[in-house]
Amino acid sequence: MAITPLMPVYPRSPVRPVRGEGVWLYGEDGEKYLDFAAGIAVNALGHNHPHLTKAIQEQAATLMHVSNLYGSPQGEAFARRLCEHSFADTVFLTNSGAEAVECAIKTARRYHHHHGRPEKHELITFANAFHGRTLGAISATNQEKLRDGFAPLLPGFHVVAFDDLEAAKAAMGPHTAGFLVEPVQGEGGIRPASQGFMRGLRALADEHDLMLVLDEVQCGYGRTGRMFAYEHYGIEPDIMAVAKAIGGGFPMGACLATEKAAAGMVIGTHGSTYGGGPLACAAGQAVLDIVANEEFLANVIRMGERLRGALEQMIPNHDHLFESVRGLGLMLGVKMKTDSRAFVNYLREHGLLTVAAGDNVMRVLPPLIVEEAHIAEFIERLSEAARRYEVPQAA
Ligand SMILES: *Cc1c(COP(=O)(O)O)cnc(C)c1O
Repeated sequence: MAITPLMPVYPRSPVRPVRGEGVWLYGEDGEKYLDFAAGIAVNALGHNHPHLTKAIQEQAATLMHVSNLYGSPQGEAFARRLCEHSFADTVFLTNSGAEAVECAIKTARRYHHHHGRPEKHELITFANAFHGRTLGAISATNQEKLRDGFAPLLPGFHVVAFDDLEAAKAAMGPHTAGFLVEPVQGEGGIRPASQGFMRGLRALADEHDLMLVLDEVQCGYGRTGRMFAYEHYGIEPDIMAVAKAIGGGFPMGACLATEKAAAGMVIGTHGSTYGGGPLACAAGQAVLDIVANEEFLANVIRMGERLRGALEQMIPNHDHLFESVRGLGLMLGVKMKTDSRAFVNYLREHGLLTVAAGDNVMRVLPPLIVEEAHIAEFIERLSEAARRYEVPQAA
């Protein structure tokens, strides 16, 4: 048999972590990594955070799972807090980002169905978006590598250029249900949408009674220095998918909506066996305790500025490798002049974890608990690695 026991869908690197502590990860043979990838923006509190692990341990020993057929004091309490810290009036809890996006798509379609406009089922989405790996989520992007071989895909998506308000406007028609957009594209290469674009989408949605659906799975939850990225734009969505950092590493996601937007999501329209179970909610509460805090978020901004400034300062010394830095808060991307994937692999061999993204970008996504000393160490090691790096010659 040639196939591996783990379905071979990932190009797994030689890094094999078995233990983590704060910003540090430790491999099978004791090797130590400075983790500025954070599980791709998941481990907001770093690894083995005492408040989070204690909450999970205590809840595991109290009540792990019950069916959503029963009342959920844990889910109600958590959803109430999510609403308090966002635009939302109601929340559907999921186990992942893609499921949160699925729920968001269903909520948008059902809004129009509820109001007797079932023909309005099409979401306008944006080039190079990433919304997850379900059939619905891959149907919402134009990224061929995600879609190849999975046809027929789900109809009802119209992809136009990202950050191009005129293109979005031109795509509107009698079938348009709304817009689905990442305020800061993650996998697509750390691209923050412009103010005019986000405000323009909000205005179009208001004018035509459409749903503005945000995918904040990666950019939400404190990553940009605000609780949610939409706060940077002075707008609020109708529906929003959140995940990644929401459980700090415990699998969890959420679809948030206003009362108006959730009009169609009545009894029997959606469900999940595990979604919002007591254990996930305990993890979610513990993360919220720490992240939904002015001082914590101000520190994310401060550390983000420091990291960004240090990265920018490096560029002139390595201008054959690095072009520019972009992003918001601690969601940063270094646009590279060479293959970012090869460089990220090289950094791994030198004990630094970052993540590649589209458009030849190296993502730098440290845990949100990162401190100045960690940033200094990261920059020192990155400079050293960049100095020694030999750009692979194209074959
Ligand atoms: C990671 C991600 C998803 C998918 O989340 P999963 O938990 O992997 O299903 C969706 N949207 C964005 C923006 C993401 O970064």
